[in-house]
This record gives sequence, structure tokens and C-alpha cells, in this order.
Amino acid sequence: MLILRKQGLYCEAGDFYIDPTGAVERAVVTHAHSDHARRGAKKYFTPRSGVGLVRARLGANIQIEGREFSEKFPLGPVSISFHPAGHILGSSQVRLEYRGEIWVVSGDYKRDPDPTCEPFESVPCDVFVTEATFGTPAYHWNKSADLGRELFEWWEKNRAQGINSVLCAYSLGKTQRVLGLLAPFTSRAAYIDPAAVALTECYRAEEISLLPTISLASLDANTRLSGELIVAPSSFLSSERVGILGDRYESAFASGWMAGGQSFGRFAGYDRGFTISDHADWDDLVRTVRETGAKRVYVQHRGKGALVRHLRGLGMDAHSDAELAKEPPRQMSLFGA
Ligand SMILES: [Zn+2]
Ligand SMILES: [Zn+2]
Repeated sequence: MLILRKQGLYCEAGDFYIDPTGAVERAVVTHAHSDHARRGAKKYFTPRSGVGLVRARLGANIQIEGREFSEKFPLGPVSISFHPAGHILGSSQVRLEYRGEIWVVSGDYKRDPDPTCEPFESVPCDVFVTEATFGTPAYHWNKSADLGRELFEWWEKNRAQGINSVLCAYSLGKTQRVLGLLAPFTSRAAYIDPAAVALTECYRAEEISLLPTISLASLDANTRLSGELIVAPSSFLSSERVGILGDRYESAFASGWMAGGQSFGRFAGYDRGFTISDHADWDDLVRTVRETGAKRVYVQHRGKGALVRHLRGLGMDAHSDAELAKEPPRQMSLFGA
């Protein structure tokens, strides 16, 4: 049903792409991250709760249709529906049904609780195309960690000494998750990167409860913060704006990469690390693949070699997504269908 072309995963029967690059007619978009929602499509389809984020990223003028989760809609003869991926607000898995066969493309997903997005839903299918960002067994994390409390206690400890807490996090998804995790603990405002302001408003428009926020852009250069929380991409620490921290700050990084022992080097220079990931860890990748009941599995992204081998070891028909480029044309039934 899907083949891999230069622009991305393509469905010939329905004449649309999933998360394509470049100029295409129709793009079914799993979520608003920039490696999935890209300029160039004449028309976009995405879950309704993600429409604001995709517009914030690609421009108000794009032609886009939002659909509720589980709502079936046709593209040509193919019946499509979106199902929550638990990754960021409005993130989806795409279910395709055509001639009695069901495929699901996972997009990015996670199984951990997250107060800022719709929880992941397992979707039974014949063929499952899964992401594998953390597709090696080195990546697993404590599912019962109280991340909100950990973050709050770190901020509190620093605040008591007048030290600013700088949490480095991506402007879409991670930033809002941190604000949502902290909301039950305090109503103090956090400072956020200017690039995160419009995206954060999209979450509020969907009635997601977040800490109050103040844009770093609203501060003049002579401001000196004390005991505040700043959530910003790591580039903030090497920008001119860093002067507002004075010399009293601690930095931390929020990422799933924290969990992989050998990649610790990339966090050198940070005072603290929080294992907060937007993706499934190894155990959840394997669990999710099994839950779909898929007869065939294709693995996208990094580390796919390890996951493909592991799934084959479990007796599954697993492949790298590169194999989709070689899928033979569908055999036509003699009796028409
Ligand atoms: Zn993503
Ligand atoms: Zn991605």
C-alpha cells in the first residue's frame, strides 16, 4: 500500500504522501515537528488538535484540513484515520485501509504519560511502519519517575539560593511538556524562548494546563533574573541574551539521549540531566510492535538494524523501511476486486 519515494512514504492508490519533503499534491502529516511537517504540499491533512501547530510552523496560508482522531475519511479509494501517538499535542499514527488490508504508520510516538498530549492508542493492523529513534536496547527509562516533582525540586533548591535554573529543551513538545509537568506544583511563571511563544499558545488554545510563561524577548538586556526557571533551546546559553542570568545559574538538559550510557559526552557542560523523552524507549518499541499484531513490520530511523534483528529473533517478518522502495507492484486479482 505504501512505497518509499524520494519525497517520502507514498500511497499510490490514494495518491498522497505521509510526512513528505518538497513539492507534492497531498500530504498527510503525522505532527508538527520540522522533520515531518514540511513546506511544499498543495494540501495538508493532520489531526484537528495539531492544525494550529502545523500552521504556526508552515504559515497561516497553507491549505490544511483537520480531522478528529478515529474519524475515517477517504483519499481516493483509501480510507484514512488518525490515532493518537502520545508524542506531542496533535501527534498521530496514520491508519490506512484499502482492499481489506490495514497499514499503520506510527510517526513519532511514546507510551509514557504526558499531560500535554493525547495518550497513545494501539491500533491493530496487518502491516506496521514504526519509528525507532531509540532503537537499541541501551535506551530504557524509569516509567514511574515523577518528572514534574524532580523538575520542581531542582528549581526550588536553586531558587532558595537565588540561582537561575536553565532547562534546555526543544521549543515544540519538550518545552510545553515541562510546563505541563510543573503546573500541578506551582503557578509561578517560567521564562521561555521567543520561538516557543506561539507554539505554547497553541497548547493553551487546546485547553492544556501549563505554567504561566513570560517571553525572554520581553526582557531588556539590563535585566538580571534571580531564582527563575528558563526553558529554552541550548543555543540560548551561547547567545547574547545569556547576560540576564548574571553568573548565578545552573543548566540542565531534558532528553531521552540521557539514558544511553555511551552518549553521555554530548551532555558535558550541563550541571544536570533529566531523562525526559518524546519517543518510545526500546522496551516500548518492542511492546508496541507486538500489540499491533502486525504480520509485517517496517522500521524507520536510527538504530533500525538492532530492532529489525530483534523482531526477527521473535519470529516476526521485520524489515528496514528501505525495503519499501523495492515493494513489487500489487498483484491484480483476476476477478477484479
Ligand atoms: Zn516528532
Ligand atoms: Zn521525528
